Amino acid sequence: MPTDHQLCCIGCGRSAFPTAPDFRCAHCGELLEVVLPKPPAEAGTWPRRWRERRTSLAAEDISGVWRFREMLPAVGEPVSLREGNTPLYQLPGCGRRLGMTQLWAKHQGINPTGSFKDTGMTVALSQARTAGFRWVACASTGNTSASMAAYAARAGLGALVLVPAGQIAWGKLAQALDYGALTCQVQGDFDACMRTLNAVVRRSPVGLVNSVNPYRVEGQKTAVYELLEQLAWQPPDHIIVPGGNLANASAIGKGLREMRERGWITHLPKVSVVQALGASPLAAAWRANRGRELTPVHAETRATAIRIGNPASWRKAVRVLEETGGDCIAVSEAELAAAKAEIGAEGIGCEPASAAALAGLKQWLSQGWIRRDETVVLVLTGHLLKDADYTLDFHRGQMAVDAAAERLRRPPVEIPADAAAVLAQLEKAVQV
Ligand SMILES: *Cc1c(COP(=O)(O)O)cnc(C)c1O
Ligand SMILES: [Zn+2]
Repeated sequence: MPTDHQLCCIGCGRSAFPTAPDFRCAHCGELLEVVLPKPPAEAGTWPRRWRERRTSLAAEDISGVWRFREMLPAVGEPVSLREGNTPLYQLPGCGRRLGMTQLWAKHQGINPTGSFKDTGMTVALSQARTAGFRWVACASTGNTSASMAAYAARAGLGALVLVPAGQIAWGKLAQALDYGALTCQVQGDFDACMRTLNAVVRRSPVGLVNSVNPYRVEGQKTAVYELLEQLAWQPPDHIIVPGGNLANASAIGKGLREMRERGWITHLPKVSVVQALGASPLAAAWRANRGRELTPVHAETRATAIRIGNPASWRKAVRVLEETGGDCIAVSEAELAAAKAEIGAEGIGCEPASAAALAGLKQWLSQGWIRRDETVVLVLTGHLLKDADYTLDFHRGQMAVDAAAERLRRPPVEIPADAAAVLAQLEKAVQV
């Protein structure tokens, strides 16, 4: 059974107030989080129950989110697209290059709309529909809008999308249109979209499903329930996640915290966050003052999913870094591009923002903060096909990268329709 729950403020701890339209505490303005009741004595048997559900044919057991419903708030009938149940892949090629044997990728891009956003959106849309909303809305760098539009369509609700004009990948914009959303390309960046939308939700009864919505965080945390199940409940040493608005890192931390409180794991993996250098306000704050104060920045990176200068969930993320002993760093555009090509060369692929996790790992290995004999799980947040332009630009040599990454370039070659021409290409390729 999904559980009764309270919303509590992460700042002042107050609870049980009516939900504000922007999901902020009426008293101090901080974010809210879902607090679940104390688990019953039988909670020790839940992991076995969750595993058994994998053979069930019932819709809410097939979903990799609702399968864990004992750890989710009661929000009515699930709006589901069979999200979750994503693969955990080993990365043997990257591992060999880095001298590691336990390097894994949890590929959240293998979700119905191609990003981890689906795991949160299924809970948020269920809650919005139950709460009586006719419309939902989000400001987005692309994946949130794609996911919201799909789940709103399934729920029978209208979808209002605000995206920064000219700054989101075509694949993501196409999804919002295809799923029938009212899509506004706002003249400004993501942070301007967010400001505009906050004013809209105060004036019109539309449900806000940006990641300040605490129900999204509940769905997103199930990624670590799945992960721990895939690892036979043996926590890895490190989980590394790209950070934009910082809700995903917060969700992963919350999921792990709740797992330890219930005794399913005995210690926490270190959860660490990687940002793009041009959009790294948390990395800067973590270095300067251990995340006590964060200064928003103007964000600039080709990894559009993490192009966020004023992250909403930074306080929640700082709590996760502190609790788990994690770290936060920033990586350059060249490091991102190289890491993305290396993941692609494993036959997996991901979107640019996701590759930040591998780029960050390489820095931490060279600093000695992560050891080569440790078990590391990279969270790949989005699908390769979200941003095909980026991949083409890399392979065609339109991006500055170092010599090692140059070797991963595979530009397409144009040839006559002639076997000899193909064989000549093959000859060249074999020699490299
Ligand atoms: C949303 C998103 C991120 C950033 O997640 P936050 O919760 O905003 O930190 C990273 N990668 C991809 C592919 C995303 O869609
Ligand atoms: Zn408060």
